[in-house]
Amino acid sequence: MARYTGSVCKLCRREGLKLFLKGDRCFSPKCAIEKRSYPPGVHGQRRRVKVTDYGLQLREKQKMKRIYGLFERQFRKYFRMAERQKGITGEGLLRLLERRLDNVVYRLGFSSSRAEARQLVNHGHFLVNGRRVDIPSYLVRSGDQVQVSGKSRELLAIKAALEGAKKRGLPSWLELDSQAMQGVVRALPAREDIVIPVQERLVVGLYSK
Ligand code: SF4
Repeated sequence: MARYTGSVCKLCRREGLKLFLKGDRCFSPKCAIEKRSYPPGVHGQRRRVKVTDYGLQLREKQKMKRIYGLFERQFRKYFRMAERQKGITGEGLLRLLERRLDNVVYRLGFSSSRAEARQLVNHGHFLVNGRRVDIPSYLVRSGDQVQVSGKSRELLAIKAALEGAKKRGLPSWLELDSQAMQGVVRALPAREDIVIPVQERLVVGLYSK
């Protein structure tokens, strides 16, 4: 499957807001949105034409996909799962995405970005309930314990990320013991626990056509 290898900062500039894809840089004056808050490309600074309803829905979907670092096919799979669940589809979609192990690793502060979290999980640096899990899409459950595995506790990247994550804060549905390098999923996240700048109802509107 083709992977996006271009500048992730261009993705933020395209959406016109910070998607926090680059770790500590996102919180520094070097952030591309701080320096060039217009879309990338030679026509980026031209006046924008009026966006249609479809265009708005598309942009919200792209934002959500990019925040969680997913391809279209993976994203659609989550949408279909959310549709089959009870409750509001948009909220169910967000809750599923938040439950991904790479997202939980990022939210707990063991990585500076979701992309880094995915790589760390892929490389087997985390245990879930004492067992090694190297699948970033693994969906955590309430009560799950996520911890950095033995030797990986010495990894400078994880130590630095934990330090840097203090400014991001910890969502209320997670609990962290930074000394022990382990976290617990206290409960599955409610919509109000998921702070991302996306209107999920527009995403639902797009896929419901
Ligand atoms: Fe987006 Fe972070 Fe790049 Fe800023 S530094 S444009 S928030 S990825």
